Amino acid sequence: MIRFRRMIALIPIVLMAACGSDGAEAEAKAPAVDPRLRIVEEALGSALPDQAATVFAAVSASPNRFFELLDAAVAESAAAGGLLVLVDKRRPLDPGYEPDDLVSLNDYPLAVTRRDLRLRKAIMGAVLEMDAAARADGVRLVFASSYRSYEYQDGLFKRYVASHGEAEASRFSARPGTSQHQLGAAIDFDPIDEAFASTDAGRWMEANAWRFGFSLSFPRGMESVTGYIWESWHFRYVTKAGATLEREYFGGVQQYMLEFLDAYSR
Ligand SMILES: [Zn+2]
Repeated sequence: MIRFRRMIALIPIVLMAACGSDGAEAEAKAPAVDPRLRIVEEALGSALPDQAATVFAAVSASPNRFFELLDAAVAESAAAGGLLVLVDKRRPLDPGYEPDDLVSLNDYPLAVTRRDLRLRKAIMGAVLEMDAAARADGVRLVFASSYRSYEYQDGLFKRYVASHGEAEASRFSARPGTSQHQLGAAIDFDPIDEAFASTDAGRWMEANAWRFGFSLSFPRGMESVTGYIWESWHFRYVTKAGATLEREYFGGVQQYMLEFLDAYSR
């Protein structure tokens, strides 16, 4: 049924190409039109109504690049068992969800603030590559928080509620099940506070994280979109192609890209 509807939706593109006033030019371009453009437009319309026109204009301007990045990101994500899962205040993970490839950061030459940090093995290649690149630039990345289980997040959130009140706590801390940290692919760098942004590490990550597949999850001034205040220290791995896709088509906003992908993959 869905496939049939999509086929119908493609017909106008073909007709326009064949019957437009500049018919010869349109006909010559017609084979390059990716039939998935219409599906992208539908997904944008349902997931990001406010951003749909802007994003779709960018996609339409260079669709081949868009689909190349999209396909690479989705393939790497699928091979690793889901690196582009949308987790936010409205879309929680299963309480029992735990990645099956968690490894201890103690087994790698990384600077840490505590000895119980774990991340998914699937992202360690990118983590090490990024860390080495930072060191080569004279910058030290210090890992301060990583994978958190549902239970750990539950305790953390309750402590913040006790100290800050529920409304304030929920602006900077996730309820259990809604934290990206449960994915094992999100990292908080030291110091975990707004001072990070003006450290060498903070400036280096802001400029370079995307080259290694990492993206700032909660950018400045985006609380109404992400649900969280600016967290300059919190990065999530979204694959290298995904991080480039986010920069080039989604205004550098991870939440927009993940919401689109969530709708596109349905
Ligand atoms: Zn975090």
